[in-house]
Amino acid sequence: MRKIALEEHFVTADLAGYGSSTSSIAQPHVWADASRRLLDFTAERLPEMDAAGLDIQVLSLNSPGIQAEPNAAVAVRAAAEVNDLLSGVIAEHPERFSGFAALPLQDPAAAADELERAVTQLGLRGGLVNAHTHGRYLDDPAYHVVWERAEGLGVPLYLHPANGVDVAHVLSGHPELIGPMWSWGIDTATHALRLIFGGVFDRFPAAKLLLGHMGEGLPFVLWRLDSRWDFHNHHGIVLDRERPSEYLKENLYVVTSGVASAPPLLTAVLALGVDHVLFGTDYPFESIGVACRFLEEAPISDEDREQIAFRNAERLLGLGVPAPV
Ligand code: MN
Repeated sequence: MRKIALEEHFVTADLAGYGSSTSSIAQPHVWADASRRLLDFTAERLPEMDAAGLDIQVLSLNSPGIQAEPNAAVAVRAAAEVNDLLSGVIAEHPERFSGFAALPLQDPAAAADELERAVTQLGLRGGLVNAHTHGRYLDDPAYHVVWERAEGLGVPLYLHPANGVDVAHVLSGHPELIGPMWSWGIDTATHALRLIFGGVFDRFPAAKLLLGHMGEGLPFVLWRLDSRWDFHNHHGIVLDRERPSEYLKENLYVVTSGVASAPPLLTAVLALGVDHVLFGTDYPFESIGVACRFLEEAPISDEDREQIAFRNAERLLGLGVPAPV
């Protein structure tokens, strides 16, 4: 069975330093191993893909990427350079790699232009955003230009976690809860909800949002969001659609990355529909082999399995046809 994986990270030697906020919360030997794999495209990565039966990795710059750069002009240059490099890697292995663009969100207009360049000239399939950019989230009106461009191009934005702006009081004294094990999921799910209640999908109804990690918990809470939205003081917010879940069912696509467990997979399929669930591994932080075996053996129909493994990605990312590079 063909497999296309959507959350597959890399880094370049020049940009590896931006990962210090992530490395600070990882075990040193784990980070050292991941760092080596992040820098590699072919020597370790391709044999692992072959051994597990993974056909295509849709590559993205590792979190937090150039969004950590304080200087906007430097970020604009770095995004163009890394997207050029990525398109070169894909051109050398068009059967094995595709990619999401890095976006210099420090400069929203430049980020929109870079997304357009990356999609129309480099053949990349959307943009991947690592959480906030110096405290600014994607519901900020300054980012309407980015959503407008993504919607116009028909490409998704993938919202990936990174460390938060600050540490919530509830996490104080518990640094073990900060990071991908727990706080990243809450941060990222909350960021996604900001898009709904910030009116992004009312303004750009055809916008497509990808979330990894089986949807960062959101597929589990649709009913409760709707029920409590009816209860809640809306603080003047008026949504075009009656219920929050309608946005999640329509605009959200979730990736199985980093979750090799049947209950959350079945929840995502039941909550959002199988056409909104796509495959990913979260390489190099998770095992390609474990992710592929999980998908092959998951208690779903073979028709659903094929949708998740590659058909949804072919449709959403246009991967059924060769890139225009
Ligand atoms: Mn990841």
